Parts: sequence; structure tokens; C-alpha cells
Amino acid sequence: MYPVPDCPQCFGPWLNGWRWQHQATDCFYRAREDATQAADADRLRQLGRAFTRPATAAEADLWLACTGQQLPRQAMTTVHADIAGAWMRQIGNYISAQQAVRDHPIPTPTFEEN
Ligand SMILES: [Zn+2]
Repeated sequence: MYPVPDCPQCFGPWLNGWRWQHQATDCFYRAREDATQAADADRLRQLGRAFTRPATAAEADLWLACTGQQLPRQAMTTVHADIAGAWMRQIGNYISAQQAVRDHPIPTPTFEEN
């Protein structure tokens, strides 16, 4: 198992893919992600197929929270519909935060023993 960190602001639990169950209505990431999701869904309906756009600042923050690493500045996000027609994102080539955590584990701090 590769535990995915909670939302860095409201501490809501990770759900799936790149989605968290934000606990606070005023969570910064909830607002940003809702806006991104709405814009992506509109574009997906218009195009009728997957598209790629630059990763958002919120996506970069969530990537950092999961991996402890900066998402490269030029990183792209691919948005596509899954089998159920739901909206799905691929950030930094990862379809799920859990896969990113698996491949980019945050190093566990080590302490010197006396
Ligand atoms: Zn949140």
C-alpha cells in the first residue's frame, strides 16, 4: 500500500486519481480544483477527446504534497474521460496520486542514534 497524503490545507482524505474529499468549504485547493475541473469538463465536451494543457499551480502543490518533489515547471496535465464518462487527469504522467507516491516516495527522515 502506498498511503496518499491528505489535502495539504483542509486535511481531507484522498479519494482516487487526483481527487481529495475536501473537508472545508473554503479550502483553497477545493476552490481551485473545482474551477479547473469545470473548465476541463467544458473543454473535454467541446473537443470530444483527451487534451493536454500545462499543469496548474494547485496541481503542482498537490504533486509536491504527495511526492515531496517539485513538479517540473513545464509539466503537462492530460485530461480525458474514463470508461464511465467521468473526468480524469494525468499529472506528470501519473493517472493517480497513489502511483506518484509509489514511484516518488517521500524520504523518511532518519535520526542518528546516540
Ligand atoms: Zn482541501
